[in-house]
Amino acid sequence: MALQNKYLADLLETVKKRNQGEPEFIQAVTEVFTSLEPVAEKRPDLIEAGVFERIVEPERQIIFRVPWVDDNGVTQVNRGFRIEFNSAIGPYKGGLRLHPSVYIGIIKFLGFEQIFKNSLTTLPMGGGKGGSDFDPKGKSDGEVMRFCQSFMTELCKHIGPNTDVPAGDIGTGAREIGYMFGQYKRLRNEFTGVLTGKGLTFGGSLARTEATGYGVCYFANEMLKANGKSFEGQTVVISGSGNVAIYATQKATELGAKVVALSDSNGYIYDENGIDLALVKQLKEVERKRIKEYVTVHPEAKYTEGCSGIWTIPCDIALPCATQNEIDGESAETLAKNGCYALVEGSNMPSTPEAIDVYFENNMLYGPAKAANAGGVAVSGLEMSQNSERLSWTFEDVDSRLHNIMKEIFKSCDEAAKEYGMEGNYMAGANIAGFLKVAEAMKAQGCV
Ligand code: NDP
Repeated sequence: MALQNKYLADLLETVKKRNQGEPEFIQAVTEVFTSLEPVAEKRPDLIEAGVFERIVEPERQIIFRVPWVDDNGVTQVNRGFRIEFNSAIGPYKGGLRLHPSVYIGIIKFLGFEQIFKNSLTTLPMGGGKGGSDFDPKGKSDGEVMRFCQSFMTELCKHIGPNTDVPAGDIGTGAREIGYMFGQYKRLRNEFTGVLTGKGLTFGGSLARTEATGYGVCYFANEMLKANGKSFEGQTVVISGSGNVAIYATQKATELGAKVVALSDSNGYIYDENGIDLALVKQLKEVERKRIKEYVTVHPEAKYTEGCSGIWTIPCDIALPCATQNEIDGESAETLAKNGCYALVEGSNMPSTPEAIDVYFENNMLYGPAKAANAGGVAVSGLEMSQNSERLSWTFEDVDSRLHNIMKEIFKSCDEAAKEYGMEGNYMAGANIAGFLKVAEAMKAQGCV
């Protein structure tokens, strides 16, 4: 849908020209601008202060060489990125993605989304994101360690507990964060909370591992409740089988739903009896195996090669938790036709613009990623607080703060949507509420 507001439409053209070859970034900006049209109409002061122009341009973009030696003694070279997008409301904060598909456009889309997500958490965190085209899959622990050390040798010049605090994302779990933290400490000779998602023995927060997946379900639960529904007795399909998918499965099950499918980039499993989560944790978290191994233990379940077919499984609620653009218009049509009435995003930007149109055309309840998956960064923010205090809070304490934050996020999205005449459109609500706080801070701080 073309933008009606001339100012935003012209600015989007400039963004397209300036960021050629970065379709994911353009997609993210277009979605946010679409939601911000009524704000641009109502707040000429923000246009005058150049907030819209400034918010689409990262404050700093760092690209660097990451050389490392593999187990055969051969030199390998990857490319590292850190986009410090916006520090209006706090130090840059956002994860590090390690995946072969990583290039500047992916990191910029993620960093841009992170600005609004972090704002929604109510915690003082700016937006940033980073990563590398390194693929941890199939690498030995030694190779992963040497890569992480080389990556941090450069990254450490740009980050710090009051400047920029990276965390995990796809391909960056506890092992990678541990290696990176060790290298930072060695190079800087200081023990600070410069990364979040750390191990529990060196400053990590209880409930960080669970936070994104749990948060997705807490958000979904609020949205369902507000619309007279609940997880109880519902059939749920979840894509991915990584950190977010595993803990979304756990919480959805605790809330009374039956999760019947999970996937990885090779294919998906369907278990009509409900997923055996202990087995999935063993396969993915301990043994680092493929999801298809599930059927060797549960032959009554079915494995299908190819991951997009997962959306053909009939369900009431869908929680995409794998990667960007994993649901296109056709998959969304199939979901709607099969009776799916709610879709809540665990992964970042999993729905193409065509898929989002289908959700609205079918009156589905739609929980957008920047609100629904903010639980991870929220608990990262709580990890930063604990590190500053040099204290650790209990699991129950962190989980209950997370729960409250997710309730507040839903409330802000709901209220902002209502205030701007788009009741029930939580995507617009999330974009507007997330944007306004950052915009006020940017205006107050002058042209920087
Ligand atoms: P993990 O690396 O733990 O798991 C990612 C899962 O998605 C794996 O099952 C992986 O399969 C699958 N996947 C990755 N890339 C693709 C692809 N191109 N096609 C199909 N499947 C794919 O990552 P997380 O669970 O941490 O992250 C998942 C999503 O959630 C991402 O979009 C991330 O940005 C987002 N997110 C994560 C947060 C966190 O705290 N971890 C916080 C907020 C958002 P395979 O093993 O085959 O690659």
